[in-house]
Amino acid sequence: MKPIVPFLSSAASEERGMWSQTLPAALNDIADVLAFEDMTPAQRAAARVAIVANPDPAEVRALPNLKWVQSLWAGVERLTAELPEDGPEIVRLVDPQMAQTMSEAVLAWTLYLHRDMPRYRAQQEKKIWQPQTLKLPSERTIGIIGLGELGRASATRLRQNGFQVAGWSRSKKHLSGITCYNGADGLQSLVASSDIVVLLAPLTSETEGLLNSELLACFKNNACLINFARGPIIDTPAMLASLENGPLAHAVLDVFATEPLPQDSPLWTHPQVAVLPHISAPTIPETAVQIVRDNIAAYFETGIHPKSVDRSRGY
Ligand code: NDP
Repeated sequence: MKPIVPFLSSAASEERGMWSQTLPAALNDIADVLAFEDMTPAQRAAARVAIVANPDPAEVRALPNLKWVQSLWAGVERLTAELPEDGPEIVRLVDPQMAQTMSEAVLAWTLYLHRDMPRYRAQQEKKIWQPQTLKLPSERTIGIIGLGELGRASATRLRQNGFQVAGWSRSKKHLSGITCYNGADGLQSLVASSDIVVLLAPLTSETEGLLNSELLACFKNNACLINFARGPIIDTPAMLASLENGPLAHAVLDVFATEPLPQDSPLWTHPQVAVLPHISAPTIPETAVQIVRDNIAAYFETGIHPKSVDRSRGY
């Protein structure tokens, strides 16, 4: 008899429906994938590994013998915050295709800011014919906060397009062609030397509110911000004040503390803000299911699951 692997998700019904078709088909030779709500108490007790997409943590806790969960998302802050530390190990999605997709988004929105598109859009609205001074990519420094799977791929892509690139991470890194910083002083140095700051760090107790008024005051004059990580890493009132009074000139925001962004948010209509609906690097079902399948097949064969989140660090 094949092992049963529960699937837990709080996604919208269309997305849940897609995964409910894709996962059982992809894992058919190694396991029976069942939706959590369709499982009997005995099946729930037998489950050792579950596949999750931003699940209700209470449902994860209702699987008493779970050793680990495989997330279909790269960001797992809800699970790390709500599952007990002695609960199942949390394995997040690490997909090279997602890193490529994110690097494409970082490049696209960096070029949008680099080539002054917000300013030309504003000029067009007022019928102003006014060329701005052209800068070369080599004259711009892009600072990436977070040099993990997504940050490193983005740094490489920006370098390939001629930008100067710097990055900040918890541990000291040596990456060819990239100025690497760490520590609190390193973060100040990164933002003080960057024309565009890109957020690609996980949301943890240490990164929540990281971009506060103190750090924003260290930004270069007329610097721009891209947040492709998680909304609460930015102190939004402090960012709005910085957009109004400087030094920030523009912000591209893909992620927010509340999603969808509430209708009454001032960000929707702010002239210096571009709002995106959390689309910079969605999970790609075709590549994700193969990774999930291979991870679970290897676990059934060897008893070893992939590297999991370090609960003390929160990522
Ligand atoms: P990784 O875990 O691979 O990398 C995280 C990076 O952040 C590492 O370089 C890590 O440092 C650094 N970091 C974490 N905490 C700190 C800290 N306190 N101080 C300094 N550096 C820190 O994550 P990914 O690159 O895969 O993903 C990053 C985030 O992107 C995800 O957590 C998720 O929230 C978000 N995301 C957003 C998507 C979207 O569509 N908008 C899609 C996918 C992910 P070190 O290298 O030293 O460990």
